[in-house]
Amino acid sequence: MPLLEVEGVSKAFGSLKAVDDVSLAVEAGEIFGIAGPNGSGKSTLFNVITGIPFGPDRGRIRFDGTDIQARSGNGIARLGLARTFQRETSFDGLTVFENALIGAGYGKPGRRAAEARSRAVEALEFVGLSSPAFGRLAGELSVFDRKCLMLATAIATEPRMLLLDEPASSLTKPEIETSIGLIRRTAERGITVVLIEHVLTFLMSLSQHLLVLNQGRVLAAGEPKSVIADPRVVEAYLGT
Ligand code: ADP
Ligand code: MG
Repeated sequence: MPLLEVEGVSKAFGSLKAVDDVSLAVEAGEIFGIAGPNGSGKSTLFNVITGIPFGPDRGRIRFDGTDIQARSGNGIARLGLARTFQRETSFDGLTVFENALIGAGYGKPGRRAAEARSRAVEALEFVGLSSPAFGRLAGELSVFDRKCLMLATAIATEPRMLLLDEPASSLTKPEIETSIGLIRRTAERGITVVLIEHVLTFLMSLSQHLLVLNQGRVLAAGEPKSVIADPRVVEAYLGT
């Protein structure tokens, strides 16, 4: 049974079908790539899967066998499905460590403070944010470090699946290389990764399965090499 199953999911904004009858299945342990031109519905698909800020208009979404299409974002997160956002998102007025503590559930009923602290430290060090950075305000970090912090905060929730929305956007070449390594190691921790990326080469080196969206619909899906060779994909990317 796939860890995530999306069946016939749609989301419209007025007359615009942002996500139009999309189906996909993600197996536990894999890195699943989602590509597509700007505006093709990639981020909206993540929104409806995670219920943040809204679920789908139509269709069924199952996570580990549980129907989640009508659940709240918090309820879905509690099942172990975490995400990052395309824009770097953190509590800018809080420190790096405080942000990670929130991910680790500090202050939540049943969560021991010492355990939350050690989870936060582990997640920050995992993404390469070492202790000298812990006391810095999140809003003062570089774009790359902000992306790392967003990833650490998500990892601190100990998710089973992590949805990453364009983790490489606005990064330099060396930073992209570091990100690729980090995503690979995230998968090696046993976290199933679904990865949105506009840049196909980034996805090619990481994902076992690739799906291409165009105008809200699935244009092609399957093994990455055959997907990028698909003439419809080439056409969508060249915009001809
Ligand atoms: P992608 O992530 O692939 O670039 P998006 O999912 O962000 O695409 O957007 C898909 C389409 O839906 C775009 O035309 C976008 O303008 C539109 N859209 C996205 N979110 C909203 C919203 N909250 N309200 C209205 N239109 C939206
Ligand atoms: Mg997007």
